[in-house]
Amino acid sequence: MILVLVGLLAIPTITQSDLLPDTPYVNDGTMRRIYTPILMYHYISELPADADDIRVGLTVTPQQFYEHINYLNVTNHHTITMSDLDEALRYGTSLPENPIILTFDDGHIDHYVTAVPILNQFGLTGTFFVITSFADNNRADYMSWEQIEDLHNQGMEIEPHTKNHADLSNRDFDFLVYEVMGSVESIEQHIGAKSTTLAYPIGRYDQTTLSFMETTPLLRSVTTMPGAYHTSDNYYEMTRLRITPETGVPGLAQLLNFTRAQR
Ligand SMILES: [Zn+2]
Repeated sequence: MILVLVGLLAIPTITQSDLLPDTPYVNDGTMRRIYTPILMYHYISELPADADDIRVGLTVTPQQFYEHINYLNVTNHHTITMSDLDEALRYGTSLPENPIILTFDDGHIDHYVTAVPILNQFGLTGTFFVITSFADNNRADYMSWEQIEDLHNQGMEIEPHTKNHADLSNRDFDFLVYEVMGSVESIEQHIGAKSTTLAYPIGRYDQTTLSFMETTPLLRSVTTMPGAYHTSDNYYEMTRLRITPETGVPGLAQLLNFTRAQR
């Protein structure tokens, strides 16, 4: 059982044994390899006047994003969730034609204001990795818990990106519990849903992180490593495809064709 302390000092009191799921999550023993691009978006906004190189590199304009989504729609792509892909890998459940997963990192306010209305316009869904302390502290330019709850109620998948966007490499067990399970607990408290997928902040993790992940109730993690084929023997290093300001529709089409051909 995971104890939840509510108060000013919400220090997770979780031990290793608490993290072991009551019922091991099993698969049917069949090795599977499935092609599903997991696109990775950050900001969906116009660039502020003072944007530095990092901000520029992480930004797709609303117009670009609309064109991407419209392209995916006309090319008969179907958005699925991380859980859909997971079930297909573990149990062989069927996926729609041209499955694709849209992920949005960091909980930026423009996900709520700009990206989701466009997704809704096309009847598509997305997976949103939120930094829970930013919502706790009502940080400017990030989604509040009320907005995150609203996305959940609209059918979007809400998943953890740690409490403080911490680099998870070179860390001890207690730190990993605090950052990862702390964010998992916050999400469950607010939206009432159990998290299943972690996104490693800045794509950083090491062998200790991977060993730790195996002890948590989380079923999988996504990285920033490129690739679009996923296998049923490696759930804690799932690859994604980074979308950059240079990724126009021709670039997106090329990215999808190129990665599909990498058998
Ligand atoms: Zn991030």
